[in-house]
Amino acid sequence: MALGGDALRAGEMLRIWQAGRCAVCGKQGLYLVKDHDHETWLVRGLLCRSCNVMEGMDSDESGCFADYRRRHPTVILGVRLEYAGPLFGAEDPLLPEPRKEAAGT
Ligand SMILES: [Zn+2]
Repeated sequence: MALGGDALRAGEMLRIWQAGRCAVCGKQGLYLVKDHDHETWLVRGLLCRSCNVMEGMDSDESGCFADYRRRHPTVILGVRLEYAGPLFGAEDPLLPEPRKEAAGT
């Protein structure tokens, strides 16, 4: 699936803004997945796997997940990013930084 320049820019903004941190727990260095709204299919932010699973099971109107759902990173940044799938692909704007061993070969 090809993504336009706006999606690439939005994804890059999100990735840079979160700086490798989970949008809910704030932990850094964990594998992050794209969390999306299942009604709109728009990306809300990048979460660690644990928070992503717990967010899906949480239906409380208050608490950290409710706060996240009301004010998630793409709302804060004012960007719109359609969810293209759970896996990172070559055209995914949220592709992690290239690994050092892959550079300069
Ligand atoms: Zn987390």
